[in-house]
Amino acid sequence: MSPSFRPRKPQPGKVKTQEELDALVRRMKSEQAAPDNYRQRSLKLHGWICAKCGREFELDNLHLLTVHHRDGNHHNNPPDGSNWENLCVYCHDDEHSRTILADYLRGSEKET
Ligand SMILES: [Zn+2]
Ligand SMILES: [Zn+2]
Repeated sequence: MSPSFRPRKPQPGKVKTQEELDALVRRMKSEQAAPDNYRQRSLKLHGWICAKCGREFELDNLHLLTVHHRDGNHHNNPPDGSNWENLCVYCHDDEHSRTILADYLRGSEKET
């Protein structure tokens, strides 16, 4: 559905199917379930661009851009955006797969 989404630096063995991508988006969205919508603020502050791979986003693929918490604390949402990093689902997944992703996704609030 979103053939226009291509990371700038595709890594061998990291190509994801649409299905995997959808699953990722669902995961990253549940991570962002917050009372105050900091995702919108982070997108405004940092722009529609992945901080890691530099991929730029548009309305039709903006759902693939997610907000990562630098210090791992999802309750630490300073208004200046200093704890947020806009990451595409690829880079976000990569960021978390270095930690104990499974535990994290099960609802732990730590991401190390
Ligand atoms: Zn990226
Ligand atoms: Zn994250």
